[in-house]
Amino acid sequence: DRDLRKMLSEKRIKSVEDRSVGSEIFDQQTLKTLYKMANSGYLNILNGAISTGKEANVLKGIHEDGHFLAVKIYRINTSDFKKMQYYIQGDPRFKVRTTHKRQLVYAWVNKEYRNLKRSLEAGIVVPKPIISQNNVLIMEFIGDDDGNPAPILRNKAPENPEKAFESVVTSMKKLYHEAKLVHGDLSGFNILNNNEEMVIIDMSQSVVVDHPISRELLERDIDNIILDFKKFGVSASHEEVKQKILG
Ligand code: ADP
Repeated sequence: DRDLRKMLSEKRIKSVEDRSVGSEIFDQQTLKTLYKMANSGYLNILNGAISTGKEANVLKGIHEDGHFLAVKIYRINTSDFKKMQYYIQGDPRFKVRTTHKRQLVYAWVNKEYRNLKRSLEAGIVVPKPIISQNNVLIMEFIGDDDGNPAPILRNKAPENPEKAFESVVTSMKKLYHEAKLVHGDLSGFNILNNNEEMVIIDMSQSVVVDHPISRELLERDIDNIILDFKKFGVSASHEEVKQKILG
């Protein structure tokens, strides 16, 4: 606690106690992690909430260079451990045989970092992951230069729906064949419409194609994408999209 108070007094993360950030999400361990990241130069200021989800909060961060960051903080207590265990068990990259909740969340966050990195390397448009430590993931901020985050596709229809759809299907194909991953929760909620560029986000649950549930998840992703784009006037059949992805 002395350490924490010392770190707090350094106030590297100036608005960590700011009400707008919702300080109740920061348990002591999380604060320590944030301060460690701040002291290593990854982050200077936390500057308000972008999103408060079921399991994680996404905050806007500012680097000392002045550029914005997205800081995703998983809450330990509200996580779905059963799901995490189930998804991690079938993934050969992870050897976590733990029922320890905190360790499981840490592995989950590391999984999201690695999935984003693998996707980026395969040429898919995702936020560039910068670092993950414990339950905190720092990644590229997707939005404008004034710090306004890009809207989710659900909230902002693309101007050219056909083109946007093509781009999403191409990403799914690259994800499958090059990154060898299936997103697993793809829909208009997890795609940002960044000035007409379709940016895929939220990859913690993404699984390797060898995972026993990967095919099932792929079928679901295809259905969700077709349904969401139908609202924008794009019609496509499940088989047709599946054929495009699997080739
Ligand atoms: P959750 O699992 O809590 O839904 P997400 O990764 O989907 O977490 O992020 C929640 C929300 O935060 C997104 O819908 C989006 O609005 C915002 N967001 C997430 N990542 C970024 C990012 N890199 N840049 C800008 N906004 C982001």
